[in-house]
Amino acid sequence: MKNVAILGSTGSIGTQTLDVISRQDDLKVVALSAGKNITLLEKQIRQFRPEVAAVWDEEDARSLRTSVSDLDVTILSGIEGLIAVAEWHTSKVLVTAIVGMLGIRPTIAGIKAGKDIALANKETLVTAGHIIMPLIKKHKVSLLPVDSEHSAIFQCLEKDKGNAISRIWLTASGGPFLGKTKEQLQNVTLADALKHPNWSMGRKITIDSATMVNKGLEVMEAKWLFDVSLEQIKVLVHPQSVIHSAVEYADGAVIAQMGTPDMRLPIQYALLYPSRRALPGEKLDFYSLAQLTFMEADEETFCGLRLAKEALRQGGSVPTIFNAANEKAVALFLQEKISFLQITELIEASMDEIHAIMNPTVEEILLTQQMTEDFIESRYCS
Ligand code: NDP
Repeated sequence: MKNVAILGSTGSIGTQTLDVISRQDDLKVVALSAGKNITLLEKQIRQFRPEVAAVWDEEDARSLRTSVSDLDVTILSGIEGLIAVAEWHTSKVLVTAIVGMLGIRPTIAGIKAGKDIALANKETLVTAGHIIMPLIKKHKVSLLPVDSEHSAIFQCLEKDKGNAISRIWLTASGGPFLGKTKEQLQNVTLADALKHPNWSMGRKITIDSATMVNKGLEVMEAKWLFDVSLEQIKVLVHPQSVIHSAVEYADGAVIAQMGTPDMRLPIQYALLYPSRRALPGEKLDFYSLAQLTFMEADEETFCGLRLAKEALRQGGSVPTIFNAANEKAVALFLQEKISFLQITELIEASMDEIHAIMNPTVEEILLTQQMTEDFIESRYCS
């Protein structure tokens, strides 16, 4: 039996993780956490019977304690609750399906407690990769990618262990605004940006896909996961999302992983690695694939990708500034307080204005996040 803890069980990745677990007799949920959706969390507690569950607000925790008082479950709150879930003593693997830099401290706690990490929360690796990767080695735990592109690369590498990667072809759907010019993006609405053509995901990552900031975050994530340089990572726009990414070796062989877009596959692979088991759902039908197309990303229009590469080149706390600015700007866009193009404008302004440091500690990363949020707040309010 493999015991699983989930940070962010009420979200898109979290609910799909529970769907995967519900189909496997040898996976068991022992710890769950949510932000505000206590109605769904209560349902999950009743179905999966975890030993512990955490929510963000203590008031919500009190209300949940009352509603599940007939069950033997501990209800916690705040960052301490997230950390307790991450390091819960009976779990073997921690799925980080929480959104944003809030995942940093619990992920580190989980690693230090000896948990294998099934990583969806890319913001953690983007901002604290230089801390996370050595910790993974030190505590001899596994880091299993859940992001579909990184899972694809991980799956491609499986058969070629020991052979150096020449290049990674990191595929991107291009999002809902593929082919649009900057002028055309000026008046796009929140509803337009939330219409992803191929994937159904949480709101923040859906907006990140529309700006292509998501692909920039994934470039940084790939650098840490696979120990490759920026020059070795090629972003490849592939609107059909059939090839989830590919690895090229010294002899020119390119190994790709393909499939229908279904996040349950990478989630299940991370949880059951190295086994493959049946998954319900549509399978790839090569006969009905009319064509697969590929193109370079337009980094002038979708400058989030260009800025992410620049952040990676500069290193230190610059990826944190990039990511924190994006988190704050996307939150404002989701509240319809800024326009679509202002998201990347605010990222660029933050990268220009905020003082960066090399090799930041966790405290300095969180301080940089706060400084970036304050900067955007002042810029947005002025
Ligand atoms: P969602 O927005 O759907 O879910 C986020 C989860 O985090 C929810 O459970 C939410 O709880 C929880 N959460 C938010 N704020 C807090 C808080 N203050 N305290 C505790 N929990 C909180 O996001 P996704 O599932 O789409 O994405 C999760 C992560 O996975 C992101 O880092 C994303 O980039 C990554 N990812 C997602 C993919 C996808 O297909 N969705 C694909 C690849 C990577 P609640 O809803 O209860 O408030």
